[in-house]
Amino acid sequence: MHDPSLSRREWLAAAGLTLAGPTFAPMPSAEPSSRRATEPPSRPAAEPSGFDPWLEIDSAALAHNASTVSRLAGGRPILAMVKNNAYGLGLATAGPLFDRLAPIGGFGVVRPSEAVVLREAGVAKPIVLMGPASDQEAELLVRQSTRLTLSAPSDADQMIRLARRLGRAIPVHLYADTGMHRMGLAYDQILTRLDSPLRQAIRIEGAMTELVEDEPFDREQSARLAALAETARRGGIELGRLHAASSDAILRPNPATFLDLVRPGLALYGGYPTPESRARGELRPAYRLKARVIRLDHLAAGEGVSYHHRYRAEQPTWIATLAIGHVDGYPAGAVKGGTVLVGDRLYPVIGTISASHTLIALGPEPRVAVGDVATLVGPDRPELHPNEVAARSGWSEYNMFMHLSPSLHRTVVS
Ligand SMILES: *Cc1c(COP(=O)(O)O)cnc(C)c1O
Repeated sequence: MHDPSLSRREWLAAAGLTLAGPTFAPMPSAEPSSRRATEPPSRPAAEPSGFDPWLEIDSAALAHNASTVSRLAGGRPILAMVKNNAYGLGLATAGPLFDRLAPIGGFGVVRPSEAVVLREAGVAKPIVLMGPASDQEAELLVRQSTRLTLSAPSDADQMIRLARRLGRAIPVHLYADTGMHRMGLAYDQILTRLDSPLRQAIRIEGAMTELVEDEPFDREQSARLAALAETARRGGIELGRLHAASSDAILRPNPATFLDLVRPGLALYGGYPTPESRARGELRPAYRLKARVIRLDHLAAGEGVSYHHRYRAEQPTWIATLAIGHVDGYPAGAVKGGTVLVGDRLYPVIGTISASHTLIALGPEPRVAVGDVATLVGPDRPELHPNEVAARSGWSEYNMFMHLSPSLHRTVVS
């Protein structure tokens, strides 16, 4: 049951949210044991031998981004947002990689299934579910040490039922709506919900809000959350660790929003939430989207390619077909100025990006061979940076990550 005498320090220990975090045995490497850390990341042995496209996850980039975010946030622990399949990188791949990083204190998800996948992948640090769960899901999650959030009026009844069933208090975070009006309970009413049956049923570990990402109003929202915690404290209720800041607030930076924990998503994966934040240039994109050349062709001047012949060769040119398309998460809009790296050269995307195929123009020489590896998105050239591909193709930065197909094969390099 909730013990109001629990000190902050004891709470920290109970929550496992210390800066260093618990220590874990290293995860088994997804790569061949002969791999040496000094080898370049994209050597052929790490690549799948087939013709299907794949996603290369860069574990060193994830570690670099976590350290960078931690430094920007003044060393506060990071609650890593891994919703939407870890922003497309793959929950079962990215989760364990984050779990062993010291700056990462825990995880945030929005769907119950995401918490279950993280536990199945061996993730041991605390997980906070920031969305609804059925009674059945909630019980499974609490048994797996995932924290629920009190976010809607009906959550209180669910928590009371669950605490009775399990015979113990449920660790939770409060989700306060301080002006976003999307999720959570109104900050000026949330304390009135904490009646005595609910307070008996829960152990409050933290309280969160979601910022609208407007600098002055974000400060106001953070002040509202802090004032809420102060009012609660005067009433004998500790709200634990306060958290609000997403990548946007961390990169601005807007330190008034940092509170006790920060809660970034995009920045951890190496993306910048806005063109302005990109000027910081300190993050590394943590994935490469790769595909193979599967066909070469030669066009005479005036010949068109693909649907509606949207591209016509002005001069004779070689072209190559890549086995990747928009279903894999490559934006169809990349025909408007996108480029692809094969070998050490960038080639323009032409024609129409279809479900499973992308065409590139090679120029007067064939230059590439069937089976060659193409990199469509990644850190290797400024033109391939996810933010740059987003800008050229008319997509949001977030889509460059979140629309990566879950069915892409994933490899890990360090
Ligand atoms: C997605 C999400 C974040 C992280 O947002 P980014 O802009 O990717 O950093 C933080 N908090 C909540 C509640 C979220 O849903």
